[in-house]
Amino acid sequence: MIILMKLGATQSQVDHVCSAIRGKGHEPLVLPGEDRLAIGIPDALTADEKVDIAGLISQLDGVSMVTQTSRPYKLASLEFHPNETVVRAGPATFGGGCFTVVAGPCSIESLPQLRLAAREARNSGARALRGGAFKPRTSPYAFQGLQEEGLRIMKEVGEETGLATVTEVMSVEQVAFAAECVDMLQIGARSMQNYPLLVAAGKADKPVLLKRGPSATIDEFLLAAEYVLSQGNPNVVLCERGVVPIDRSYTRNTLDLTAVPVLKEHTHLPVVVDPSHGTGVARYVPSMAMASLAAGADGLMIEMHPEPKNALSDGAQSLDPAAFERLMRDLRALATHLGREMA
Ligand code: PEP
Ligand code: MN
Repeated sequence: MIILMKLGATQSQVDHVCSAIRGKGHEPLVLPGEDRLAIGIPDALTADEKVDIAGLISQLDGVSMVTQTSRPYKLASLEFHPNETVVRAGPATFGGGCFTVVAGPCSIESLPQLRLAAREARNSGARALRGGAFKPRTSPYAFQGLQEEGLRIMKEVGEETGLATVTEVMSVEQVAFAAECVDMLQIGARSMQNYPLLVAAGKADKPVLLKRGPSATIDEFLLAAEYVLSQGNPNVVLCERGVVPIDRSYTRNTLDLTAVPVLKEHTHLPVVVDPSHGTGVARYVPSMAMASLAAGADGLMIEMHPEPKNALSDGAQSLDPAAFERLMRDLRALATHLGREMA
């Protein structure tokens, strides 16, 4: 439920509405707006409670309108928070009109590998460096990542290059040290519904890049974001990375680009696209990256490896530095054409 206050409503009128909500056993959420203030009730209300509370509140001084929210998520909803959220992750910014590119290898493999990838990414115009230290691999025999050593490498390379750094955490125990080493915590597709992990990320003092689960609906995706937001961390960037395909013989996933305008219509959180996991095929990445910009995304996450053929994970979908540079040039041209600004 959202209570919209009248233009010029006084603080004591706002306080009165809040105490009436508390009197009904719910915690109000005050949402300052550009010109008018709104007060939300994030709790799920029963039909009887809705009638009861709306009847009481609509008669209070200073109240303009009482509306029911139509979606199960509240804090993530544009209804609750009409201004677009801008997320700052170290030196990088997501949202607010700019188009931000995160690039780097799937896995951190060594200091020289990450350093080379980072320099190529930065020189081509990326603003943030990605790289996994804890890797969610389908097989337990596949490379699992350099773990803490990888995080130390990421920190060093981030400081050296001035790029923001993003890495995945797979468990609650990994959050604290990762948060010390990088600017942004990634929650991977497989972990999107790991609720204790979402809660831990919500308590961390770092922004979160939340990837959509391979079979998650939009509501499930936004409710996962809601877990992070509800712990007091307002800095969530959503990442569309493809959903389970009906045909795996050509692509690894089906990149759901309709998720971009749909999310933009329903949430204030920035939305980026990962066409690398979204397609699984390096040669399909550039066109899907361009399409993501055209669809209104706030940025991209791209896998780029100095030598994709020798990558320890996801080489088939990784661009080499030359292909990445070409893509960045094409993105800049398209951004100019669309009146968008590249970060
Ligand atoms: C990754 O970014 O390397 C990754 C494992 O992605 P996803 O969680 O989208 O599969
Ligand atoms: Mn990967």
